[in-house]
Amino acid sequence: MIIENYEAAVIGAGHAGCEAALALARNGIKTIVFTVSINSIALMPCNPNIGGSSKGHLVREIDALGGEMAHVIDRTFIQSKMLNKSKGPAVHSLRAQADKAEYSKEMRRVLERQENLDIKQAEVTEIFTDDEKNVTGIKIRTGIEYKVKAVVLCTGVYLKARCLCGEAITYTGPNGLQAANSLSESLMNLGIKIHRFKTGTPARISEDSIDFSKMVPQYGDVPVVPFSFSTDPEDVQKEQVKSYLTHTTEKTHEVIRRNLDRSPMYSGVIEGVGPRYCPSIEDKVVKFSDKESHQVFLEPEGLSTDEWYIDGMSSSLPEDVQTEMYRTVPGLENCRIVRNAYAIEYDCIPGKQLKHSLEFKDVHGLFSGGQINGSSGYEEAAAQGLIAGINAAMMILSKEAITIDRSEGYIGVLIDDLVTKESSEPYRMMTSRAEYRLMLRQDNADLRLRRKGFEAGLISKEQMDALFEKEESIKNEIERVSGINVKVTDELKEIMKRAGSTAISTGVTMEELIRRPELSYDMLSPVDPNRPDLSKEIREQVNINIKYRGYIEREERQISQYKKALEQIIPVNINYDNVSNIRIEARQKLADIRPETIVQASMIQGISPSDIQVLMVYIKSMGSRS
Ligand SMILES: Cc1cc2nc3c(=O)[nH]c(=O)nc-3n(C[C@H](O)[C@H](O)[C@H](O)COP(=O)(O)OP(=O)(O)OC[C@H]3O[C@@H](n4cnc5c(N)ncnc54)[C@H](O)[C@@H]3O)c2cc1C
Repeated sequence: MIIENYEAAVIGAGHAGCEAALALARNGIKTIVFTVSINSIALMPCNPNIGGSSKGHLVREIDALGGEMAHVIDRTFIQSKMLNKSKGPAVHSLRAQADKAEYSKEMRRVLERQENLDIKQAEVTEIFTDDEKNVTGIKIRTGIEYKVKAVVLCTGVYLKARCLCGEAITYTGPNGLQAANSLSESLMNLGIKIHRFKTGTPARISEDSIDFSKMVPQYGDVPVVPFSFSTDPEDVQKEQVKSYLTHTTEKTHEVIRRNLDRSPMYSGVIEGVGPRYCPSIEDKVVKFSDKESHQVFLEPEGLSTDEWYIDGMSSSLPEDVQTEMYRTVPGLENCRIVRNAYAIEYDCIPGKQLKHSLEFKDVHGLFSGGQINGSSGYEEAAAQGLIAGINAAMMILSKEAITIDRSEGYIGVLIDDLVTKESSEPYRMMTSRAEYRLMLRQDNADLRLRRKGFEAGLISKEQMDALFEKEESIKNEIERVSGINVKVTDELKEIMKRAGSTAISTGVTMEELIRRPELSYDMLSPVDPNRPDLSKEIREQVNINIKYRGYIEREERQISQYKKALEQIIPVNINYDNVSNIRIEARQKLADIRPETIVQASMIQGISPSDIQVLMVYIKSMGSRS
């Protein structure tokens, strides 16, 4: 039986699939989203957090573009903290602990209420194309076929998944959910390359077996800052849970060293490559053997469960070793494991097969987002799912694809790295990956990306009007402040004394004062009587733009050079075999990755600046020949 009343199909209702499905349906595209288990929509199989360093930036960017993750975490968080507050605004990053069960339920509610969107619990086993490699449909385990114009792959960690806990191996997805064992073949039949990655998670233990008196409580921020630009800060002020800090001991490390041969990671049973930046406790003990202890955070999984997550101790050691290992940690001497730690291996694809729109280069109408592209993390997945969903919609609506470059957002850095660089391990976002960090702050994500969200059909006219108003207010206030000369009054002297700022004797401009590290726009309001009543968000922008003006202007200059270089497009029909003056291995790499721009080509490992020079000359000659 063939079902014909959908235009797009999304395979997966994880963090990527949910964003992709909503982006399509909100563009009026009749969409169906598949998951192997409808009770696992937006499941958080690992840490109970959304956000954190650089990941908080991604969540804000998803929100600025019209995605959903920020709204759902603002409604289901149980603790929230702004990280790196003592450092510069470029690395300020929001991190919120979610009630996992409520997060999944809330996202399911959003999907179920969304017009043009249907959810189906079924395993997709095959993707069909016509002879020109245009997507035409999919098939599910029961044999039913769906005729669609676009498919978005968001299969996460389920393709040919297997879970490893010591010698115990189960051929399931996370939490014992059904794995998807047929789709990999279908992808390979379409000429898509596949490789295997792995990741791991710690055990969950029961609350009544933890001695919190031996740990250091960690508190959320008061007041709480919401993730979404549309959430009223008043709506997120509530009682928060505590998490707890403890640490491993030499005894912990001794137990691990004594049993390394029983770890699938060290016995070679595991084939998949794991994330360097999310190491298992075994890896930490082996790689950082000089460290006497590693931090461990105990975090509640939610308000309606007594399961606690042991952050910092993911493992695939056998369960008996896990029990012995966890019980060496102060406060966990009598801990009882509710769910054991395990590693999961799964099929995913090298991202270089994708364009920056996340469409496959060789299969038209097939898009891909999330862990399947070689990334790791809920936020990285949601960001890609959103872009893949937007561009599947743009394709069906015959509109230009929406792409984000490295100067516009962390999403741009994420996708550019995934589709350009060789992926030898799961890719986790970090602030150090972004060149233009000061411009790509989490606090200005709306100013950077709202317009793209509007082009993508996900941001309303009202939201755009609010953006224009905000931009106007920021611009006007910066202009007003830059014209103010401040007299040296007792009040000013008092402010500066309290801040420990060097006293002044003669008049000074407000700008000069704001630029002093120990002073800020807000602190100087008592000596600025004509100051308009502005929102916290606008005041923050005024403060940052004045305080870091020099650095911002420098990055703006670098960005305009980068943008110019981006305009140097590489013709899709280039034959690198004809570019004779480039080394063979460089030609092979270029032919393999098929970069879209000179900038992208210059980022490929092993491509030298002289290769790029030769390539630019060759492309120019192509132009003069045609
Ligand atoms: C054990 C474990 C440990 C992890 N550890 C970390 C970590 O330490 N750090 C970190 O950042 N991230 C970690 N993660 C990863 C994190 O969970 C993922 O990054 C995130 O969930 C990926 O989101 P996604 O939407 O790409 O895929 P997923 O959340 O995996 O969702 C995939 C969806 O696809 C569906 N699906 C798959 N195949 C089919 C099919 N053929 N037909 C129908 N439906 C299908 C599934 O039902 C599911 O709904 C871990 C994940 C697991 C399982």
